[in-house]
Amino acid sequence: MPVDERMVKNIVQEVMAKMNINDSASGKHGIFKDMNDAIEAAKKAEKVVRVMSLDQREKIITIIRRKIRENAELMARMAVDETGMGNVGHKILKNYLCADKIPGTEDITTEAYSGDRGLTLVEEGPFGVIGAITPCTNPQETIFCNTIGMLAAGNTVVFNPHPQAIKTTIYAINMMNEASLEAGGPDNIACTVEHPTLDTSSVMMHHKDIPLLVATGGPGVVTAILSCGKRGIGAGAGNPPALVDETADIRKAAEDIVNGCTFDNNLPCIAEKEIVAVQQVVDELLHYMVTEQGCYLASKEEQDALIRTVMDEKGKLNRKCVGRDARTLLSMIGVEADPSIRCITFVGEKENPLISTELMMPILGIVPAKDFDDAVEKCVWLEHGNRHSAHIHSHDVERITKYARAMDTAILVKNGPSYAALGYGGEGICTFTIASRTGEGLTSAKTFTKKRRCVMVDSLCIR
Ligand code: NAD
Repeated sequence: MPVDERMVKNIVQEVMAKMNINDSASGKHGIFKDMNDAIEAAKKAEKVVRVMSLDQREKIITIIRRKIRENAELMARMAVDETGMGNVGHKILKNYLCADKIPGTEDITTEAYSGDRGLTLVEEGPFGVIGAITPCTNPQETIFCNTIGMLAAGNTVVFNPHPQAIKTTIYAINMMNEASLEAGGPDNIACTVEHPTLDTSSVMMHHKDIPLLVATGGPGVVTAILSCGKRGIGAGAGNPPALVDETADIRKAAEDIVNGCTFDNNLPCIAEKEIVAVQQVVDELLHYMVTEQGCYLASKEEQDALIRTVMDEKGKLNRKCVGRDARTLLSMIGVEADPSIRCITFVGEKENPLISTELMMPILGIVPAKDFDDAVEKCVWLEHGNRHSAHIHSHDVERITKYARAMDTAILVKNGPSYAALGYGGEGICTFTIASRTGEGLTSAKTFTKKRRCVMVDSLCIR
């Protein structure tokens, strides 16, 4: 192990050891024992943030961005150490994406109407204190994108994070409050509790001072926030298929799909989870995946062993397998794979549980389709109505359009790896909260605003 890597590992271990949750200074930089206290503190901070200028908010965000960059590697290692999921190098990249591509106050815009009867502005103003629930798959990234967007819009935020990622979350929240203080802003712009549970979540969801809830996670949590009788933004599960037709550049499709699928060990909800390919290109695609892209071709027996290992009889995922790399998964079924192996593949039916389930592991089954229309039908079935993400490799614009209409997803990447949708190797902003279920799509500061109409009658129109 090179020296600098060992040093960073030691620092991570030191930071994690120091963060004995029971000893942590409750109330310090956003961390509380009691959810009611966390909400109270965020409410006090919100009173300050609400009257801050956009310029002052942007100053805090600039320091948050700097701190994310400075801590990108440390936080990536912390997240992998604590959750046991993901890939350090890819998590560093994700942290840089957060620092560079999450929009700030420039995202807040104003509509104007002017005419004989004066001037009317429609402005985007804050909600107040927002309650947010975050997943263990992108722990600090979700905290970053929610906090930056919510703060840019003039809100503060209380998080009920995944308990499996609490130390990483506390580190991120401390860091953002330190950034606020450094910029002359208030403490507690982002708060959480030391021990998040379903009870603390329920307190947050039903609290009178929380007007808006944002959930990033699986179907259970999205349904929970949407059942609270409040406005809810639900960023739920996906199972994104990648369709490959005979007009595609098959060699490039193999590269893009495997790169997207293996990014952070397949944890991102937008990542390719299965391939549907028209029959005539299946062999060629498989050839490039195996010979050039580090894919291990699993036998029927190995597929069966993987099914028994990665999920139980009811299809519930084994958390010890989520976000693990391909070689670790193979070792769990007694296969010692070459170090070059980064993905597991096979040809199967769409009903195969390794294909139809959102695994969040680099296992990429290929479903053959008799023609393009059959492939579209299979992709719609495999996406399970999540309307989250879908990808296609084709050079036929009519077909791409047909697929986009049929999938009706928040994200659709054409001829590239899925992470292009996060602004990595593609145009656009970055977020790790993709509101698929409630329709806001890729969330940013403007998602966390209320519209307000301000009307000046018979004045200020000089046209
Ligand atoms: P998870 O659903 O197990 O947990 C997510 C969060 O919800 C955690 O904080 C958990 O404690 C909480 N939670 C779960 N059930 C709850 C309930 N009934 N009431 C209140 N809180 C509850 O998900 P995970 O394993 O942490 O993350 C993976 C899932 O999240 C995948 O399905 C993935 O697709 C999805 N995800 C979606 C997006 C998106 O932007 N759409 C982003 C990341 C992850």
